[in-house]
Amino acid sequence: MARIVPTGLKWIIRSLSVSLFVLLAWLLQFALGDIGDLTPPARSAYLERHLDPQLLQRERDLERDLEESEAEVGRHVEVQDTLLASMDVARETMQEMTGLHRLSIEQGIPPSPEQEAALADAQGRFIAAQEAFEQANARISELNAEAYRVSGELADAQERIAEQRAPADEAYSQALSEHRLSVAAWKLGFIVPVFAVAAWLFSRSRDSRHGPIFLAFMLASFLHLGLVMHDTFPEEYFKYIAICAGIVAVLAFLLRVLRSAAQPQPALLLKRRRESYFKAQCPECAYPFPDERGDTFYCPACGVGLFEPCGSCSTSRHRLLPHCQSCGAQA
Ligand SMILES: [Zn+2]
Ligand SMILES: [Zn+2]
Repeated sequence: MARIVPTGLKWIIRSLSVSLFVLLAWLLQFALGDIGDLTPPARSAYLERHLDPQLLQRERDLERDLEESEAEVGRHVEVQDTLLASMDVARETMQEMTGLHRLSIEQGIPPSPEQEAALADAQGRFIAAQEAFEQANARISELNAEAYRVSGELADAQERIAEQRAPADEAYSQALSEHRLSVAAWKLGFIVPVFAVAAWLFSRSRDSRHGPIFLAFMLASFLHLGLVMHDTFPEEYFKYIAICAGIVAVLAFLLRVLRSAAQPQPALLLKRRRESYFKAQCPECAYPFPDERGDTFYCPACGVGLFEPCGSCSTSRHRLLPHCQSCGAQA
């Protein structure tokens, strides 16, 4: 017999069911996450298998040579900057000394030996810096030529590596897609039975007191079933799977409603009859029956018996309700 559940208790049951759903969905998420943790294939292993180690070593050597020669060019350019600065200083000294020298000659005084020595020293430093600058220039040209040769060889080696890498990448992507398929198979192998068990438990206990528990379990597993299928199947297949699942769910619900309309469950039937009697209407055809009537009363519209004398106390009782209103005897 159905009992009226107080509204407060109903809301407590609903909120606990929602909490249970959230926790179960979380638990399933962790379980599926652990299943998805299977080690994927390592790309390096495929590269090692397909690439010539000597060629890779050569690529590394050439890259190092190129870096070294670029660094050396950089050092020589820095030296040249220093040399340019010292040439400027030497040039200024030379100009100064030449000016003094000319002044001395104009005044008829011979330049002092110190002036002569300073001028010769500045000239010497200028020439030495200029020579060093040219040497650095020559070395930079040599290094640039070397770098050009090395980068040509490097490009050649990299081209050959790229040729060898193509089959390695192909083998790797195949292994990766196999790995994804196997993860998907494990996940589906886990979530499909869980959902099937949950749906079975729910369908068995739908009208029992444990209905909300199994409903939460079924919804949580259905959510993850959908998510796993979404991850597994490409978009173009998933939309068909999703729409088919939707059609199946709507059909199942519709069939249930139709069955319940044709053959109402006892609790539902009792509820309908109770409400009709309360409104003074025939439960079968909604014809309003009068307050004034005999002990026995049949609906004049559809002919169903609505009142009859009680078998226990003989007063008039509702024929379609389970108990007599005068003595409580069950029909
Ligand atoms: Zn009727
Ligand atoms: Zn009675």
